Formats: sequence, C-alpha cells, structure tokens
Amino acid sequence: MGIVEEAMEKREARRSKPQPWIVRKLAIFITLGIIGYAWYVYVGRLCVPMIRRDTGALGTRGLGIGFLVVFCILGLVMIWAYEKVVFTSPGLAKDHVQKSSAPATRGYQTWWDTESEAELAQARFNASSNPPQPPPPAEIKRSRDGSRPHHHHPRRSTDHQRRPSQQNGHHSRAPSGDENAGTTDALPPVAAARANATTHHRPPPQPQDQSHIQPLPGTSNAPSQKPMMYTRAPSKTPILLPEYRYCYRDGFQKPSRAHHCRACGTCVLKYDHHCPWVGQCIGARNHRFFLIFVIWALLFCLWTFATLVGPNAHASIVRPNYEVDGQHVAIIVLSGFFAVFTVALLVTHVIMICSNMTTVEQLAVRRMREREERVLGRLHARWELRARRATLKEWNAEWGRIGKEGHIWWLGSARKNWDATMGDKVWMWFLPIGKSPDDGLNYVVNPRFDAEGRWLPRSEWPKELR
Ligand SMILES: [Zn+2]
Ligand SMILES: [Zn+2]
Repeated sequence: MGIVEEAMEKREARRSKPQPWIVRKLAIFITLGIIGYAWYVYVGRLCVPMIRRDTGALGTRGLGIGFLVVFCILGLVMIWAYEKVVFTSPGLAKDHVQKSSAPATRGYQTWWDTESEAELAQARFNASSNPPQPPPPAEIKRSRDGSRPHHHHPRRSTDHQRRPSQQNGHHSRAPSGDENAGTTDALPPVAAARANATTHHRPPPQPQDQSHIQPLPGTSNAPSQKPMMYTRAPSKTPILLPEYRYCYRDGFQKPSRAHHCRACGTCVLKYDHHCPWVGQCIGARNHRFFLIFVIWALLFCLWTFATLVGPNAHASIVRPNYEVDGQHVAIIVLSGFFAVFTVALLVTHVIMICSNMTTVEQLAVRRMREREERVLGRLHARWELRARRATLKEWNAEWGRIGKEGHIWWLGSARKNWDATMGDKVWMWFLPIGKSPDDGLNYVVNPRFDAEGRWLPRSEWPKELR
C-alpha cells in the first residue's frame, strides 16, 4: 500500500511539471523556418527565373507571375491563421473558477493517461477492496459503475467461468473483466461509491441497472433481462459529478469538458489536444482558428507541391539532360509530407467537430465501439454480417447510436455541432477573424443523459425525443 502510494506521488510530481517555455514554443520557430525556406525556394528559384526570362526557367513570365500571386495569397492567409492559433488562448479554467477544497477521497482524474498509471490506481483500489471470488452481486454492481477499477484482477478466473457457461448455454454471471474496459475511463473511488449509492435510490429501476444484477449459476432469470455481457452497456462514469471534475493539480473543480494539459501545466477549456506545432493547447477558443489554419496550410502545401512537380516533370520529359534543382526536390518532399499530414488532420477534425466531440471525447467513444465489437463477437461469428447488423439495429433502437444520441454533447445534427465550434456564418469557417463562438464554459447537455452524465435508454428519454 505504502509503496504504491509513494510511486503514485513520485510519478505525479514528475508529470505535473509543465514543459519549459522554450521547449513548448520551439516548434513554432521550426515551423516558421520551414515556411521561410519554402518561400525562398519557391519565389527565388522557381518564380523569379520565370519572370526574369532566365535561360533554364521552367515557364513563361505570365506563368511565373500567376504562380507567385497564388502562392503569396495562400501563404499570407496561412500565416495569418497560424498567428491567430499561436496567440489566441484556448481559454484557461483557472481564469474562470475559484480554488476549492478536494473531495474527501483522493480521486483519479487523468483517465486518458497511460495504462500503467491506470494499473497503479487499480492496485490501490484492489488493495482497499479486495473482492472475494466469485463476487456477490453487490461487487459486480460496483465493478460496473466503477468501469476501470476491477478491469484487470479477475481476468483469469473470468475466462474460466465464461467458457463453461457458454458451453452449457446459460449465462452464469457477468464477468467483471473486459466488459468495462470499453467504457470510458477510470473513476475515482469516491465517485464510484456515490454513483453506486445514487443508482440504488433512483426511483424507477432502469433496464441497464437490472441487466447487470446477474443471476448466479442455477438461479432463474426473467426472460426479458438480457445478461450484460450480451447487451450494450454504456459507460456509467458520472462525468458531470463534482468529484469527478476535480483537478488535483490545480485544486479546483474543472468546468465540463476542460482537462489538464501536462505540457502547459494548467486546465484548458474544452481541451482538444496539445499541439506542439503551435506551442500551446487547442481548446474552446482557438479550435476554430486551428481548423482554419489547417485548411489554408493544406491549400498552400497542395499548390506548392503541384506547381513544383508539374513544371519539373514537364521539363525532364522535353529537355535532354535536364537536371532537377535539389532544393525544388526538398520542397516537393516537405510540401508532400505536410499535405498528407494536414489532410489527415482536416478530415479527422471535421468529423469530430460535426459530432461535437473533442479528441479526448472521441477516444472514449472509440473505446465504447471496441467494447461493443467484442460483445458482438461473442454473439455472432465475424462473417455473420446480417446477424451483426440486426443486433446493432436492436441496440440502436433501445439506446440510440453511439457517438450521436449516446454522446453527451451531441446537439442533434451535424450542422448544429459544426456551428457550435465554427460559427454559423460561412466566412467564419475560412477567415481567421472575429472570435470563437464557443466560450468554453457553457455547454448544453444532451437530454438523453441523466443529471450525472450517464446515457439513458430510449425509454427514459424526454417524450418528445423518443
Ligand atoms: Zn488542472
Ligand atoms: Zn497544452
């Protein structure tokens, strides 16, 4: 116990130190250096020789001027957008919330951290609870609510019990193993305990609550109650609970969707990711500029790549003994690389923005999908596509879709989600002017979730939404 505690403290002390300023900002200077070099090669070694009608120039004067004008327009707008991302703060939680005292029990907040940290918390949790095998129904319930805790410990015994039960054709009990691995995150023990308590006294017994009170081997089961290992079991993490939202590093309760960035050493509003290329976090108030920058950077890279490759390729075909300028090749490689990189960023961020999801939230959704994939694997073989689709359809009828009705910040349509981050005017999607429509503090909770942030089955949604 003592050793584990100590290891946790040490690890955290090391991690909670923010990066030094120069390390955080270094990539900005590298980025500017790359842009400057591209500018020199493109203008000085491609356009100017064309405009001056030098021998060996790769095109006419008119072409050179055309290349130059488009390059400068794309480049200047890109740099303008870049400057906006670099200098617009994502919004810091410390400017908006008061310091407060920690919840009674020390929790475990950075759930997207490495597995090993999760295991340490797991070890702590096990040391204090040490459940018997097989656990009584109460233990099973806690493990459901506590998602990560209990993830690892009974793995072997779980596998034992599952195999015979499947052979016998009846389901003995829900294993507490990988069922929960797919749900979002590690949960502070205190919140788990409270979640447990609140689900107990909630007046109407919910289908998903009944489903995990599993019959022990030999006991009868109502036919309507499906065992949890064969149903969709959404995360029980009460992400709206104050204990869950407490940042132990900063000593306050984070606003919803804010997370602590270890590189910056502070809690960032609607934390998306820490972007080394802009030297700070992408969050509520600069996400829009980030996407605009990515759009222009992609256009800039594509233009540079195409207008260098085209004339060089043409010349190497029509001119005997043509030698390609090595610096042209360098810029072709760089612009090609960054074009691939930015197109991937653009596609993933457009998809996430249309779902009103941050990168962090998207990871949670992905885990849920993976969990569901495993459950489907138990029900149907991989090739039974029709059966798989039918089961998914059934689950969607019962719950709504993962990542849409099942996402706590989903606003009901892709357009509404998009506008919440990018603004409702078309110019706001492309020009780095004005502000972000998102202040990072006020978010509408999907009415398909309960007050603590748990996904409700369709039968419990507000009537008009069912
Ligand atoms: Zn923090
Ligand atoms: Zn950061």
